[in-house]
Amino acid sequence: MNLGLDGKVALVAAASRGLGRAIATELAAEGATISMCARDAAALERARHDIESKTGRPVLAVTADVSRSDDVVRFVDETLARFGRVDVLVTNAGGPPAGLFEAHDAAAWDNAFRLTLASAVELARRVLPGMKERRWGRIINVTSIAVKQPVDYLILSNSLRAAVTGFARTLATEVAPFGITVNNVLPGYTRTERMEALAAARNKGEGISREAAFADWEKQIPARRLGEPDELAALTAFLASERAAYITAQSVAVDGGWIRALY
Ligand code: NAD
Repeated sequence: MNLGLDGKVALVAAASRGLGRAIATELAAEGATISMCARDAAALERARHDIESKTGRPVLAVTADVSRSDDVVRFVDETLARFGRVDVLVTNAGGPPAGLFEAHDAAAWDNAFRLTLASAVELARRVLPGMKERRWGRIINVTSIAVKQPVDYLILSNSLRAAVTGFARTLATEVAPFGITVNNVLPGYTRTERMEALAAARNKGEGISREAAFADWEKQIPARRLGEPDELAALTAFLASERAAYITAQSVAVDGGWIRALY
């Protein structure tokens, strides 16, 4: 299937490792030009070099923290200066910390708001004018299975990702007349460093070992295994494509059947 991504410019946030990196790699493999960011310059440069040499597509790496609006502005401005436009926006960030309600003070809620919701809003704010002008755009937010079935110990993530979903659903209606789609991809338990961090949090909170935490997750998943980052990336590339022009306002999970819901 030709996804029609050849020469499109894709901006992928938080892409030095894990899901963001897999998405940037998949989009580049489909012919897109990539601009990506993360906070750690050295890790980001390694990822940039790896994607560029694997795919032969130009990749711009901008050191930026998406929870800071000035960094978001710089990330988008540097992308526009180098490539002239953004056709595909993938919003992503690190996950907010795990923990029960009483573990998080007001500052933790504030940080989670900036990391998860404000980052997606600010990135969209910056790229939308150009997409509207060209009457073509794809916005894809990396959220979580938590938006359909909240995950224990992740009260910050469960709350803020629901807000991103409300934002995306509303924006999708506003921008659909301009040929712009807005969708969310919902990773289930996927093999990245985030899962190591969550296993460590469970070790601290529940006293269970890393192996027991992974075995427990696998037991909950009908497919009986964790997902791989490139499985989420494949869906993201399709939603970014020309072929997905009539798919908007959707939240699509890649979770091995974990969500127990009808839709
Ligand atoms: P990860 O921790 O493996 O990677 C996160 C990436 O984001 C890294 O490149 C990191 O450098 C970057 N990053 C973190 N905070 C940033 C910031 N403030 N600004 C810029 N870059 C930043 O995580 P992942 O597994 O790839 O997950 C990506 C997102 O998907 C997270 O929000 C996570 O909570 C969510 N998610 C992951 C899973 C999973 O099973 N892996 C499941 C559901 C949801």
